[in-house]
Amino acid sequence: MVKLAEWRGKEIFRKNGIPLPRGRVIRSPEEARAAAESGDVPLPCVVKAQVLAGGRGKGGAVRFANSPAEAEAAARAILGTEFKGETVREVLLEEKLPIAKEFYVSLTLDRSARLPLLMVSAQGGVEIENVAEEAILRLPIHPFIGLAAYERRKAARQLGVAGPTAKALESLLDRLWWVFQKEDAELVEINPLALVGDGLVALDAKVIVEDDATFRHPEYADIRDDRTPLEEVAREEGIAFVQLDGNIGVIANGAGLTMATLDVLQKFGGRPGVFLDLGGTDDPSKVTQAFLLMARAKPASVFLNIFGGVTRCDTVARGLVDAMKQVPEGERFPLVARIRGNNETEGIAILRSAGVISLRELEESARAAVASAGGRP
Ligand code: GDP
Ligand code: MN
Repeated sequence: MVKLAEWRGKEIFRKNGIPLPRGRVIRSPEEARAAAESGDVPLPCVVKAQVLAGGRGKGGAVRFANSPAEAEAAARAILGTEFKGETVREVLLEEKLPIAKEFYVSLTLDRSARLPLLMVSAQGGVEIENVAEEAILRLPIHPFIGLAAYERRKAARQLGVAGPTAKALESLLDRLWWVFQKEDAELVEINPLALVGDGLVALDAKVIVEDDATFRHPEYADIRDDRTPLEEVAREEGIAFVQLDGNIGVIANGAGLTMATLDVLQKFGGRPGVFLDLGGTDDPSKVTQAFLLMARAKPASVFLNIFGGVTRCDTVARGLVDAMKQVPEGERFPLVARIRGNNETEGIAILRSAGVISLRELEESARAAVASAGGRP
């Protein structure tokens, strides 16, 4: 999932004719002053931290300024600070528009209906999760037909707008639908969509691009998202690797078994810290690579839970033993393995002769992994 910062989302909106406040991205307080002084950004203006987390309005990351000096001070107060764990490196400066009303509009995917979904509410400016169900219009959209005229009119009725404002909404929805498709988005959201005079202006922009479509969007390749540095390495190596905040590493194969393994560890009081899904790997060097990545996360213990189908147990065992030898002495950690399935007897023999605790039953293995992590940071 590639989440775009507000200003990037707005850049896309602008190219597609969705009305926006005039504004500019700045990266230093001096730049903020200059932008306000030159009239690039009309005053009074809004100063907004460009972080991916929502709730900036309530959290002090959206400020107002009436003069170039105030714009500079507001930028200085936000730049470099942390907002919900993210450092603010960019600030969007925009003209402050007189808002008559705040609406909510989004297009997303309804995975259970397997259709795009238009959501519209007259209660904008608050998180949609906090809006009552009855106050939200949800329209599934036929992916080939797109937004039909009657659906756009329905949306206008939901917002209680008519005349030129209804026309503006209908055109905006068309453009938003186009953006949704063209960007391979899983979400495009405007919250708030502001009523200004009898027109509509997108005051915020949230665009999330579907992971599986990123190959079609080289323009987003350089975007930092919320991956940790190790997760980034894993992604480059094609390994499914996720860091959590516990201390036990989990190596399993297949999403289902991986999730079940996390649950079993939790059940016995363990805190999974990293998990790695080997998938259908049948390549010892891949197992080695994955294990070395796991070692870099410095787990207190590692629980390996493999079902040998396509991935043969002896292949995994060999890769693992190889990998263990490559981990420097001081960085080794206890390893508990449970491998079942194809060639399991050979696999277990290989592991045991290398000193790995190798058990057959899930629960006793999980308990052993929790016990070996105990007392270590
Ligand atoms: P979020 O809280 O992170 O979703 O940030 P938003 O971009 O939605 O901004 C939060 C709130 O700031 C909005 O709901 C508006 O009330 C206010 N705001 C943002 N831009 C403007 C603007 O141009 N003019 C005015 N008057 N208020 C704004
Ligand atoms: Mn918002």
